[in-house]
Amino acid sequence: MIRVENLHRHFGGFRAVDGASLEIAKGSITGLVGPNGAGKSTLFNVIAGALPPTSGKVYLDGEDITGLPPHELFAKGLLRTFQIAHEFSSMTVRENLMMVPPAQTGENLWNSWFQRGKIAREEEAIRRKADEVLEFLTITHVADEKAGNLSGGQKKLLELGRTMMVDAKIVFLDEVGAGVNRTLLNTIGDAIIRLNQEKGYTFCVIEHDMDFIGRLCDPVIVMAEGKKLAEGTIQEIKSNEQVIEAYLGT
Ligand code: ADP
Ligand code: MG
Repeated sequence: MIRVENLHRHFGGFRAVDGASLEIAKGSITGLVGPNGAGKSTLFNVIAGALPPTSGKVYLDGEDITGLPPHELFAKGLLRTFQIAHEFSSMTVRENLMMVPPAQTGENLWNSWFQRGKIAREEEAIRRKADEVLEFLTITHVADEKAGNLSGGQKKLLELGRTMMVDAKIVFLDEVGAGVNRTLLNTIGDAIIRLNQEKGYTFCVIEHDMDFIGRLCDPVIVMAEGKKLAEGTIQEIKSNEQVIEAYLGT
């Protein structure tokens, strides 16, 4: 589904991504791990259009998407999660979900979204969709809470929920488990697995927690110094000498 070819992203003379080549198979939950500073987040930012690459190519289903802006990638079903922006923290959880612009539904719905008078029916459909998403993520009980009042883990679920408001094909999750307690991390993991199995989402997941990665991801790609170092099952990765050395080296 995603092919990254010899991708570079330099910051001045520093090569954060330094010739990365990798593939993400359709239908997979692919893990992306590696020591701090390996270039994982930068790679995500380039793939998802938040940063232009210095050189190299990114393909989505064979189509060259290198350097496309996030809203165009969004319309193609390529999403990454974003932290709930400050402006949205005083809106309720349900309202946050209902704010997601409908992708892949054409210009007309997009326009009418803003023409309040005409949209009662669309709004009702979007509200129903939001309620479905809340139920799927088991956070119906906080639907009317202000997003800013959620716990860290609940916010992560809401971030994931926003990707469900559109028909995503592939979702990039950057450290979705950071600072989240074990119980909620399991809930997030369950939601990812169900989205993968029931809705056919492909995922690429950056996460430090190897138990989480091991439970969800196959394959796991290891990045070090801006490029792919190894790829395999979690067991293969854990016993790979080069991988062990890369982790020890930092
Ligand atoms: P990871 O997510 O694997 O921890 P990052 O992609 O965040 O790694 O960062 C890779 C390297 O690139 C780090 O050394 C970081 O300091 C550097 N870097 C990231 N973003 C920038 C930036 N905007 N300007 C300069 N250096 C950056
Ligand atoms: Mg990072």
